[in-house]
Amino acid sequence: MKWDNLYKEILTCRRCPRLVAWREHVAREKRRAYMDWDYWGKPLHGFGDPQARLCIIGLAPAAHGANRTGRMFSGDSSGRTLIPALHRAGYANQPNSDHRNDGLRLKDAFLTAVVRCAPPKNRPNGEEQANCLPFLARELQLLPSLRVVLALGKIAFDGYRRLLRQRHVDVPDMAFSHGACYTSQSLPALVASYHPSRQNTNTGRLTDAMLDEVFERIGRMLT
Ligand code: SF4
Repeated sequence: MKWDNLYKEILTCRRCPRLVAWREHVAREKRRAYMDWDYWGKPLHGFGDPQARLCIIGLAPAAHGANRTGRMFSGDSSGRTLIPALHRAGYANQPNSDHRNDGLRLKDAFLTAVVRCAPPKNRPNGEEQANCLPFLARELQLLPSLRVVLALGKIAFDGYRRLLRQRHVDVPDMAFSHGACYTSQSLPALVASYHPSRQNTNTGRLTDAMLDEVFERIGRMLT
């Protein structure tokens, strides 16, 4: 029930005029390769196992990816890197994530983002990030088994830390770097990774092996 209520709120949110205009514009105009798609064109809620011990936080839906398919990391290049890695690590039942009805299921993992509407050039501004952060806070509160948060990229890393500070958690100084890990007695561990965007994977900044190492490390933390 709490999930349903939260999802209804997310799906009807229009708090950020620039992002609402962009997500709907993209959904109307479409990309030539996806002309026969009925684009989602709305905000996205998280996706995965409500009993997850691992929550993975990304940046925002891609305009012609999740904003088209209606599910986080589905139908875009980031998903084509992340979901196979989740499959290799045992969190996903299949390596592909193409559309909402492709049969993908996550076990012990939950996927979400700091911003839920596709931003122009993949760059949400500070106000938009602040507007959307309460939805992430509420999703995290609904994950009772949460033990590890994996932040994909600096914006997700900083957004999660901001959320902790808003909850009056004493957040120590932490620098974003790939593979960094921060633990505390009272909070889920925070692990940082480069975002699996095409920009990072095409340049070799993030490789499959590096992502596998991140999930192996998380696996050790969860045993
Ligand atoms: S980005 Fe978040 S806060 Fe802004 S309109 Fe979309 S769902 Fe609402």
